[in-house]
Amino acid sequence: MDAWTGHDVPTLPGKSAPPALFDSARREIARTTAGPTASMYVCGITPYDATHLGHAATMITFDLVQRLWRDAGIDVRYVQNVTDIDDPLLERATRDGEDWVVLAMRETALFREDMEALRIIPPAHYVGAVESIPRIAAHVRELVAAGAAYQLGDGTGDVYFAIEAAPAFGYESHLSREDMLRLSAERGGDPERPGKRDPLDPLLWRGARDGEPAWDGGDLGPGRPGWHIECATIALGLLGSTIDVQGGGNDLLYPHHECSAAHAERLTGEAPFAAHYVHAGMIGLDGEKMSKSKGNLVFVSRLRGDGVDPMAVRLGLMTGHYRSDRQWTDDVLKAGEQRLARWREAAVAPTGPSGDGLLAALREALGNDLDTPAALALVDAWAESALAGGGTDPAAPALMAQAVDALLGIRL
Ligand code: ZN
Repeated sequence: MDAWTGHDVPTLPGKSAPPALFDSARREIARTTAGPTASMYVCGITPYDATHLGHAATMITFDLVQRLWRDAGIDVRYVQNVTDIDDPLLERATRDGEDWVVLAMRETALFREDMEALRIIPPAHYVGAVESIPRIAAHVRELVAAGAAYQLGDGTGDVYFAIEAAPAFGYESHLSREDMLRLSAERGGDPERPGKRDPLDPLLWRGARDGEPAWDGGDLGPGRPGWHIECATIALGLLGSTIDVQGGGNDLLYPHHECSAAHAERLTGEAPFAAHYVHAGMIGLDGEKMSKSKGNLVFVSRLRGDGVDPMAVRLGLMTGHYRSDRQWTDDVLKAGEQRLARWREAAVAPTGPSGDGLLAALREALGNDLDTPAALALVDAWAESALAGGGTDPAAPALMAQAVDALLGIRL
């Protein structure tokens, strides 16, 4: 399907080194690829609801990675999916008496608008689960044939991946079995289901049920794909057997990313699936976790509708470090708006302190595991100095604006 519309990204003088990022599997910060191309797969939305600030924060995180790679002269192959068929989508459509296809199309369209407003560089490939079903089903059949998956004997036609076929299972999340069981139950898995070889085995193919959409699965029978194999198949098809960065929110680390990697590695025989597994923190509201069950989601489209500048939202979300769970409050938004106004004022000052110096410092801060708090502080200090008449570089204000645009995605 179509992604959203991109925008021009200024080319800056000189270039940065490829960024170093925290890898959840190795549990350390390590330099990303030095190759001429970099590949990244980021898990996208299940379009049953509008883009909330948690989605936005995750998308901004991986947008920064793409921006830094580009600034390092690296060609970026970026793929993102849309889980346009899954239980939450069908549940919401049933609850609201709406056609699930119409719901998915509407929310995906809104997501695209939000991404454009936040100046997120679009992925090269934006891929839906539904359009990928023939390839997903082929992968499931391949796993069954290899003895790594099995059909449940209860007549449902449901197929599960046998985690015993993935000896390294758990290397990414480092969780105890007890924690895996708990998280699996909380996040869409079914550890209690009878007949599975291991309670942690994840669903690959759900056999057709009355009242649910189903597609041809060949020998699998009609049905629809599980979530983890969806992402593994889309990534393998467009990016090859191993990728540089697999990204998403930290609530995807287990079971989603752990299982996707296990599927991909079993299919290709190559490990690790991703050189870096990168996870963004969650956004809470006024001290509480933001969740659909609490009904306290803050939607990007709602803020836009209220006339909030999307650049202030973006700055607000970059105020804390991407890996930390952090809070959204009115004060965070106000601070983002004030900072944006101050930077805009400074960008048209007659002179400022060295633009080259600011650019080098920004590249260093962001290259160190996307240290946006440090980067924002650097621009703040530069702006204060420029507005106080400090510095004599007449080219600096324009370079500052270009650097902030190219590296932070903030248009002044
Ligand atoms: Zn995914």
